[in-house]
Amino acid sequence: MITIQNLTKTYHTKSGEVEALRGISAEIRDGDIFGIIGLSGAGKSTLLRCIALLETPTSGSISIDGRDLSSLRGRQLTEHRRQIGVIFQGYNLLMQRTVSGNIAFPLEIAGVPKAEIRRRTEELIHLVGLDGKADAYPSQLSGGQCQRVAIARALAMRPEVMLFDEPTSALDPELTGEVLRVIRELAEQRTTMIIVTHEMAFARD
Ligand code: ADP
Repeated sequence: MITIQNLTKTYHTKSGEVEALRGISAEIRDGDIFGIIGLSGAGKSTLLRCIALLETPTSGSISIDGRDLSSLRGRQLTEHRRQIGVIFQGYNLLMQRTVSGNIAFPLEIAGVPKAEIRRRTEELIHLVGLDGKADAYPSQLSGGQCQRVAIARALAMRPEVMLFDEPTSALDPELTGEVLRVIRELAEQRTTMIIVTHEMAFARD
C-alpha cells in the first residue's frame, strides 16, 4: 500500500544542515500495523510528516497505492490528504466546539449531508468509548478523552491509513491505557496504521 524508497530529508537551519532522514526504505501493506521506534531526534516525526504530505522529502520517493506522492497537485493532493488520518501528541481540538462538533468538522468541510454527519459522528463517539460525552467541550475532558476525540475526528473521513505520532506521550500512565485500547480496536478492524511509540510493550503486542 505504501512504498518508501531511499527517502532523505535534510533541514537547512541557521546553525547548519540537519540530516533528519537518510536512505529510508520500507514497505507497508494493507492492514499492516507498522511501528516506528527509536531515540529522540532519530527522525520518526519527520518520516511520518513526509508520509502525511506535511513535509517535502529532499530526495527519494513515497508512493501510496502505486501513486508517487510528489506527482500530486492541487485537487489530487487535497484528495490524498483526506485519505490519511493523522494523530499528534497534542490533540489540536477546537476548544469552542463540542466533542461531536470536533468530529463533525472535517465532514462539514467536505460537504457531507447533515443526517449522514450525525450518524457517523454518533458511530465514532461509540467506537472511541465516549458515549454520553457528545455535548461536552474539550476543557471538560481528560487528556485521554481528548486524544480519543482526535482519533474519532481523524477516522471521520474514513482514511485509508492512520498515522499516530506518539499518541500517548502527553498523557498520564492511567490515561494511556484507554487510548491504546482504542488503537487495538482499530487493529482488530484491520485499519492500516503507522505508529510512532515509545510504549515498548504496546509496540510488541
Ligand atoms: P523524532 O521524532 O525521532 O524525535 P524528528 O523527526 O522530530 O525526530 O527530528 C529529527 C531531526 O530533525 C532532529 O535533529 C530535529 O532537531 C530535526 N528537525 C525536525 N524538524 C525540524 C525542522 N522543522 N527544522 C529543523 N530541524 C528539524
